[in-house]
Amino acid sequence: MKNSVQITDDWIKVLIQDFIATSPVNTMESEGAGSAWESALVGFAAGADPLWQQYKEYIGAFHWTPWEVFNQHRPQENVSADQLTVISWILPQRESVRKSNRRARKYPSEEWARIRVFGEAFNVALRQHMVDQLELSGHGAIAPMLAPNWTIIKSQRFSFASSWSERHAAHAAGLGTFGLCDGLITAGGKAMRAGSVVAKVTIEPTPRPYADHRAYCLFFHNGTCGKCIDRCPVRAITESGHDKVKCQKHLARSREHVNKTYGFQGYGCGLCQVGVPCEARIPVRSAREALERGELPPPLPPLA
Ligand code: SF4
Ligand code: SF4
Repeated sequence: MKNSVQITDDWIKVLIQDFIATSPVNTMESEGAGSAWESALVGFAAGADPLWQQYKEYIGAFHWTPWEVFNQHRPQENVSADQLTVISWILPQRESVRKSNRRARKYPSEEWARIRVFGEAFNVALRQHMVDQLELSGHGAIAPMLAPNWTIIKSQRFSFASSWSERHAAHAAGLGTFGLCDGLITAGGKAMRAGSVVAKVTIEPTPRPYADHRAYCLFFHNGTCGKCIDRCPVRAITESGHDKVKCQKHLARSREHVNKTYGFQGYGCGLCQVGVPCEARIPVRSAREALERGELPPPLPPLA
């Protein structure tokens, strides 16, 4: 490692934006289709935030805290949780990609499937770029999703869950709340992909501008909407929530459609992420306006 340089939130944001603007990996792999992503939302969560322990209790003991995953892979640094920060980002889907998938009725549009494969390849490269640049600046970092022991685990409560969830990291970092369909509704909407790294840096945590982990979903806010229920081609969303098994089976079936119709190895769906009020913004007006005014509600209660 080089001599350590001071890392600020702006340094991180510029690093991410520069990578979006200049990386050759930011591509749809299709002539004339443009880049996969054009902007990012960035948030920060403290490594010692009690929410990480609540996730363990709520999701399962297998879900890592930032300290656990960092120390598994960098034990020589012997850090405490309060020396760590989780850097989380949201890559909102571009308007043209959302528009194409709004027309889809069963399987994803070509643009959406391209983002699922090539846009996520960029997200992987971004995670690695962040780790590399932090290391070069003298700060240890790990991208949990790139850890060789990251895995999906059968869960009684959730059918299956993973040892690190990008959406939960983003929620902890003040970037959004969950919707009826399980997606994370952010200031840039629910049509997005998320990423994160855990780093040995001290950055002021982003305040969580919500008092409930479902505050931005109209269904939980006032019992209305439910539009994602109708968008799902396999009825994997009901008023009781999201059936992950049905959803995964549909994603698996989409491979054949993508290969045959678009001519590349891919898959996807995301029909519930578009053509809905939370597609590209927070649909709960009071929450959206409070966020724009910079107001903060009381701290989050424990997950129930
Ligand atoms: S479509 Fe409506 S019910 Fe579904 S997640 Fe979005 S706001 Fe909630
Ligand atoms: S719940 Fe799954 S199968 Fe249903 S629309 Fe959403 S991504 Fe597609």
